[in-house]
Amino acid sequence: MNFYSLNKIAPNVTFKDAVIKGLASDKGLYFPEKISPLGKEFLNNIEDFSNKEIAFEVIKQFVADEIPEKELKEIIEETLNFDFPIISIEENIAALELFHGPTMAFKDVGARFMARCLGYFNKEEKINKVTVLVATSGDTGGAVASGFLGVEGVDVVILYPSGKVSDVQEKQLTTLGQNITALEVNGTFDDCQAMVKTAFMDEKLIANKNLTSANSINVARWLPQMFYFFFAYKLLKNKHKEFVFSVPSGNFGNICAGLMAYKLGLPVKQFIAATNINDIVPEYLETGIYTPKPSKQTISNAMDVGNPSNFVRILEIFKNDDTKLKEMLSSYSFTDKETQQAMKEIKEKYNYIADPHGAVGYLGLKKFGIDANTYGIFLETAHPVKFLNVVEPIINETIELPKQIKEVINKEKVSINISTYEELKHFLINS
Ligand SMILES: *Cc1c(COP(=O)(O)O)cnc(C)c1O
Repeated sequence: MNFYSLNKIAPNVTFKDAVIKGLASDKGLYFPEKISPLGKEFLNNIEDFSNKEIAFEVIKQFVADEIPEKELKEIIEETLNFDFPIISIEENIAALELFHGPTMAFKDVGARFMARCLGYFNKEEKINKVTVLVATSGDTGGAVASGFLGVEGVDVVILYPSGKVSDVQEKQLTTLGQNITALEVNGTFDDCQAMVKTAFMDEKLIANKNLTSANSINVARWLPQMFYFFFAYKLLKNKHKEFVFSVPSGNFGNICAGLMAYKLGLPVKQFIAATNINDIVPEYLETGIYTPKPSKQTISNAMDVGNPSNFVRILEIFKNDDTKLKEMLSSYSFTDKETQQAMKEIKEKYNYIADPHGAVGYLGLKKFGIDANTYGIFLETAHPVKFLNVVEPIINETIELPKQIKEVINKEKVSINISTYEELKHFLINS
């Protein structure tokens, strides 16, 4: 399968090159040339397929023969070695828990898939050493660190905003060592992202280094997220309702993958992009004007994004037709206060502990309105333990640490402090 750049200047590339490059040379995001809907047969009988078989059916057209069937199946097998349960919360509303992977955030799937694809390309065809450069507002760093740990031919450099990620998140990205380096940036997530963007545009640097991104701009991180929506459909199909997915959104990769699943034929009534007060997309859907803003810090920090990268892909899915887009996608924003209130209510009424991101998703369903004919699914994108300082005071309870977290929490943090792009460049050139 070939991919084109959404800036329409750079040449089309194969899946392999799209993964290795991350972003096209004209700085556009890659998008698949063709999206072929899956057969009715498959969707009608989805309950007969295992998650791994579903994933293979969903992703294969995008990878095509660039990874042979046997190896692609192995990559999927290793990527999906945990569960994706649906937990019923109240009548016609359920949480799709995406946090049972090694770093307890949904990003594990994309990061593991991408790491293994790069590992495959490296093993088969000896590509030059690749440096994965990634900015994180919290969860990406840990998932990428864990997914890429020990992958040969790949070095990983993670930039994170000092003091603005949770303790658990920080430990997950600063304690692994080996081919993983954490750069602690004196600034915000936007500053980290700006430095990464500058690096990708630095001709002198990219002449020296094979840089790629592991943010959801990379097709190998973004596309596997389609799986979740099919897994949920498999588990809920026999309810015979119309499905509404509410996705807590920051960089809009996950919801964009949901919309791709819809393009592949998944029957969905509506998607809801639920955001915190970083409300660029809700504002766009209301006014038709897209205004990036500096990100504001919230308790759902993985969604503190002031200029969501993947929104251009969503526009592309709908061929820039706003009417069609609005028919399928609603978007609402919520304050921290509303989110805290929702977490309290979900605990008190339904005895479920939501994390701040999932709670924003839940609020999205409530605002949209779920009636007797519809079934609302909100994506629980992280385990509440990742946000202990926020969650525990609200639910008035201590949360037991899962084993994935116990393993890192007492390890020693190792990071390198930087403040400017020059320092980043210096590090990259000398490493
Ligand atoms: C990254 C993240 C999000 C936002 O996902 P996007 O694909 O960037 O919209 C939501 N919740 C959690 C917990 C995350 O880590």
